[in-house]
Amino acid sequence: MIRLLDANVINQIAAGEVIERPFSAIKELVENSIDAGATRISVRVRNGGQTLIIVEDNGHGMDSMDLEICVERHSTSKLPQNDLFNIKTMGFRGEALASIGSIARMTISSKTQGSDSAWSVKVEGGVKSELSPCSGTTGTRIEIRDLFFATPARLKFLKSPSSEMSAIVDVMNKLAIAHPHITFILKDDTRTFLEHIATDSLKERLRSVLGEDFINNCAFVEFQNEGIAIKGYVSLPTFNRGNRMQQFFFVNNRCIQDQLLLTAIRVAYQDLMSSDRYPILALFMDISPEEIDVNVHPTKSQIRFQDPQEIKSYVISTVKKGLGVSSYKTSSTISDQMMNRFSSPSSQGSYTSSSYTPSSSGFKFDSSPSKTTLPFEVPSGPAQSYMPSIDETYPLGHAKAQIHENYIVAQTDQGMIIVDQHAAHERLVYEKMKSDFYAGTVARQTLLMPEIVDLSHDEIDTLMSVVETLKKFGVLIEKFGTSGVIIREIPVIMGNVTFKDIVLSIIENLKENEDSQILEMKINEILSSKSCHGSVRSGRILTLPEMNTLLREMEATPFSGQCNHGRPTYVDLKLKDIERLFGRS
Ligand code: ADP
Ligand code: MG
Repeated sequence: MIRLLDANVINQIAAGEVIERPFSAIKELVENSIDAGATRISVRVRNGGQTLIIVEDNGHGMDSMDLEICVERHSTSKLPQNDLFNIKTMGFRGEALASIGSIARMTISSKTQGSDSAWSVKVEGGVKSELSPCSGTTGTRIEIRDLFFATPARLKFLKSPSSEMSAIVDVMNKLAIAHPHITFILKDDTRTFLEHIATDSLKERLRSVLGEDFINNCAFVEFQNEGIAIKGYVSLPTFNRGNRMQQFFFVNNRCIQDQLLLTAIRVAYQDLMSSDRYPILALFMDISPEEIDVNVHPTKSQIRFQDPQEIKSYVISTVKKGLGVSSYKTSSTISDQMMNRFSSPSSQGSYTSSSYTPSSSGFKFDSSPSKTTLPFEVPSGPAQSYMPSIDETYPLGHAKAQIHENYIVAQTDQGMIIVDQHAAHERLVYEKMKSDFYAGTVARQTLLMPEIVDLSHDEIDTLMSVVETLKKFGVLIEKFGTSGVIIREIPVIMGNVTFKDIVLSIIENLKENEDSQILEMKINEILSSKSCHGSVRSGRILTLPEMNTLLREMEATPFSGQCNHGRPTYVDLKLKDIERLFGRS
């Protein structure tokens, strides 16, 4: 026999989708407070939210009539025109309060600005009580006890109170990033988990949520055209994490999860960071409401884009551009870490002045005549013609010395920097190859003795599938008989190398079947790293003009602050750091 389900069962079914765990109840309640125009939202929980959740706000509140109806299913004040494609509020489905009321013991008290009294209503396992007057200030207070008591099967899916708590912190942080002008507070009986004080500035809010280090190591990104506006802060490639927990995307101020956007970020950072590291970011996209559908999932954490590929490419180019502006910047945490590794002689105890030898033989000072000076093989560019001038100030300063045949020490306006010459050069070659690749201007040289590499059938096929890409990189490869390939031309920049290893690592990477853009970057990475083995690298002594040329090239080259794996190519020590080192400040 088919029958209509009764209202409470319907609500419990909806609750199964909307209220998955305590954090989801908190998300719904806090979103309601935001929609009510609150400027202060405080949340108290006990036992990871399982036994008690209290959300209090100073929003516009509800009068007794609204209070009566708000706990009914499909009751909402947020779709006055019934227009599902022009949603400007966080909520619109009208099912959160009804759902929570069906599975928990919920008390709502609320007062509007003009009214004499506050009113309260109770719902327990779907059973609603009479309204009663109570005391309270303008705003709403919702108390939820014993979440899921009416649907005990759900309790089995709850995690430990501490992991429920971290999910709650996470969801509140996301809402806090999207609403800097609201104060957010989260406490349990013993401690305050977060307290974000209202501010006008997104950057201040990010400082509060993501920390000071992020603020010191991020780049501002921005883009706008008729259809879309993008802005936000993304971490420099040298400031990264082992997971994606701190990548926040907001579309029309709603935090969403989206595979496409994650991929876009991966592509944007692809050649700046190794593939197991992730940047930290908060990225806001404003898209005309008609271009997206937010009604895809009950928790509203996913949306549908009308033109996903277009959004993806805007995000990639915006982030890359933003990072390019801070091209030679590296993370300040690196110099901080470095500072921490230095320990002062007194604290080390065993280090005495007699053991100190001032004749540091690795140094090559300004005044000393240069030794071997092979022609410096940095790619040609405007900086090639650099003539040192005392008056000019450069971000990466003036080279003073080279130590241990790989580290360039330069004096800057505010301190000094140490460049890892090998890593920096590798990066310059990489960027040069990349721009030549896209411009179709990679200079090639014909090998007098073409190199033959023996390969299996499969390997030959795999390699030949990228023969055109390789050609654009300056590598001319042809099949050779049935069991090999012959390399006829290579990029000029590569100098003297053997190609066997290169061919094998390209094939290895092809097997992983990445998308073509990522593959191009991988091929470039392999070629650049090999070309560096034949040129400027550890063990090469440079003259001062050569060192300065390298510094100017780095300033002129996008993304030169990190090597192809996201490690820094230089560290920056400010004078105040150096003074700190000597206990002067
Ligand atoms: P929705 O948010 O989708 O409208 P809810 O079930 O979450 O559905 O809430 C139902 C209605 O109750 C809301 O539309 C709103 O009018 C009212 N409401 C809920 N919470 C608050 C609050 N904190 N302050 C003022 N009104 C609220
Ligand atoms: Mg709601």
